[in-house]
Order: sequence, then C-alpha cells, then structure tokens
Amino acid sequence: MPSLIFRKGLDLKHAVAGMLADNYHSAIVEQIKAEDFSYRAGRLTVHLAREFGFCYGVDRAVDYAYQTRERFPDRTVYLTGEIIHNPHVNDKLRTMGIRFLSDAGGNLDQLGSSDVVILPAFGVTVAMLESLDRRGCTLIDTTCGSVLNVWKNVRRYAEGGFTSVIHGKVWHEETQATASQAVQYGGKHIVVFDREETAIVCDYIRRGGDAAAFLDRFKNAVSPGFAPDSDLQRIGLANQTTMLMTESLEIGDMIRQAMLDRYGAHDLHTRYQAFDTICSATQDRQDAVVALLREKAVDLMIVIGGYNSSNTANLARICADARPTFHIADPDCLISRDEIRHRPVGAKGEMSTAGWLPLEGSLTIGLTSGASTPDNLVGAAIARLSEFCA
Ligand code: SF4
Repeated sequence: MPSLIFRKGLDLKHAVAGMLADNYHSAIVEQIKAEDFSYRAGRLTVHLAREFGFCYGVDRAVDYAYQTRERFPDRTVYLTGEIIHNPHVNDKLRTMGIRFLSDAGGNLDQLGSSDVVILPAFGVTVAMLESLDRRGCTLIDTTCGSVLNVWKNVRRYAEGGFTSVIHGKVWHEETQATASQAVQYGGKHIVVFDREETAIVCDYIRRGGDAAAFLDRFKNAVSPGFAPDSDLQRIGLANQTTMLMTESLEIGDMIRQAMLDRYGAHDLHTRYQAFDTICSATQDRQDAVVALLREKAVDLMIVIGGYNSSNTANLARICADARPTFHIADPDCLISRDEIRHRPVGAKGEMSTAGWLPLEGSLTIGLTSGASTPDNLVGAAIARLSEFCA
C-alpha cells in the first residue's frame, strides 16, 4: 500500500501552540525585542541581532512534529534523523516518545504500514522517500519550501542537460537530498565545499586534466558515472540553503569566469546558469549580524546554535572575522565568568577557554543564534551573562 503523505500539517496547530510556547518561547527575549533589541543590566549591555533564531522552515517543522504526536498518540512515530540541527529540540522530541532512525538501533527495515515517519526540514533523499513509500508508512513531510525551491532548480538543470554544481557540505542531509534530485531526473552533479574546491573545478573547466585524479579528489561528491571532460561543459549552480551568501556569490563568479574563459561570451548562456538558492531566512540572519557588527561597538560576540548547524557555523564565521567570537551549543556552555565551552570557527570539536569574560568595566556583548535555535536558549544565555556581570 503506498504511503499516506501529510504536507500541510495535521490541522492541530491550535492544539499544540501552548506546548510550543512553553517549550521554546522566552519572555526576556520578547522584552528585549520590544526595547530595540538591547538589554542593559549593570555593567552589561547585550545587543541582539535583529534577525535571529527559529526561521519559518524550522518553526513549521517543529510545529508539525508536535501535531504528529498529538494526532497519533498510539502509533510509533519516527524521525528519519534530526528534525533540525539543535540538540535541545531533538532531545525534547525524544522525551515525547518520538524515535530517531539515526539513533543506535534505528533501522528502516523495522518500519511498516502502522508507523508514522516525520521527514525533516532539510528533506530526505529520493531513495529514502521511495523506501518509506514501499513500506506504506504514514509520512509527515516538513521539507522546507526553500529547500523545495532548490530541488526545482536542480531538476530543471538535469532536464536541460546541465550538471548541477552544488555549493554545500557533502555530508549534510540537505545537500545529499538535493544531489539525489539531480540523479533522479537523469542529471549529474558535483558538490563543492569552498573556494579551494571550486578552483580545482574551474581549472579543469579551463584546461582539462587528469580525470582519474579529479574523480579521486571528488570521489564522495559526484554523481555515479561522472565524467569531468563531458560533465563540466554545461553547468547550473545551486546552493545548500544555509551557506555563506558572500562565498556562494564568489563561487558563482569563479565558475562563470571559467566557463567564459573556456567557451567565450557568445556561448555563455547555453553553458552556464545560476539561481540564488540561499534561503531568505539565512540571508536575513547573515545581514543582521553584519549590521550589528557595523553599528554596535561590541567587545565580543556569542553565537548560539548546534555545532552541526550549517547556518549557525556561518554566522560564527562572519562574527569571528570582526570580533572575538564564541560559538556555543547552548547556555550550559557558559560555565562561569572564568570559563566557557565553545567551538572555534573551523575547528572540529568543542574546547574550554578560561578568562573569556572581562571582569571589570562596562561590557558590551553582541548575540545571535542560528535558525534552529529556540528563543528560550537565547533567553537563558542572557540571564547567565547577567549573573556573571552582577
Ligand atoms: S534555514 Fe532556510 S531552508 Fe532551512 S529550514 Fe530555515 S527557512 Fe528553510
């Protein structure tokens, strides 16, 4: 029996609104927003970025997960993996009895037609969707509209004979799902992570080279049967929605220039296409933190969000270029006025730093949070900072 798919919620928004507010809202954050996004207590001033925290896609995904639990109290409800990249929210869903297929012991083969499966905001691969469909599970699809927009462009590239060059993280669920769309529609793809990888692709476009070495370099990042000599002749650019906007634009310029150098201006429109697929929520948060850094004389920045959250990591990158920056996963990382646990930009793991907070004199902290960070964590962080500075 094919799956039953819910794509627009379960008509229980009103029933879960109170629970969502209790779990994720913050009175102190609401108050700070009302007071021009600034908070003052004694020697401490905190400036919040004007756009931060839950984006529309995350808000909707979490809402649908709560509605699912409400609608199917007696059925086993699964998530294919993290619904969003925030440990606090994922743990909350676990306490509600929602199981994660990505947790130890989770197995797709155990699912049957009586099971309910929530698909996360960043979508799932075509193979995963087909597998769930074959099992006849009830599916709650929370894939964000901005991700669907990327898929639409990638499908169009595939149908038009363009190879999708995806600026993204090859290990990220969203990029894997996007890449699978290209394959599904008979297209090719290659994922580039940064300018360095893009430069290798551009070099091959201009001069060709050793195909075997190229494929070895990108072995986990290309579609099956990828042939650089033929598959880099027509290119369509797409992005993981949460990448750094400035870097994505630069990567687009690099590839466009390489195509121009190789094929000339008269042929460019048949060789290269680009659509900006960074989502507006990601862009708004990046713009807001740039504005905060420009307009406020902050001593340091705190960025709150899961360490595996792409958009949070990019906010931290922007901040770290301008000020001492601490990317923390949650308020518990603010251990004391002398010690903080954080992940430095570009590092793989978390570390502790002593003496992170100036102990005397007035102190101005800039604060933002990723699109998967609920306001209650921001509020708790501000309360802790306030204690430290009392
Ligand atoms: S970050 Fe953008 S694409 Fe991802 S869920 Fe939020 S709005 Fe959607």
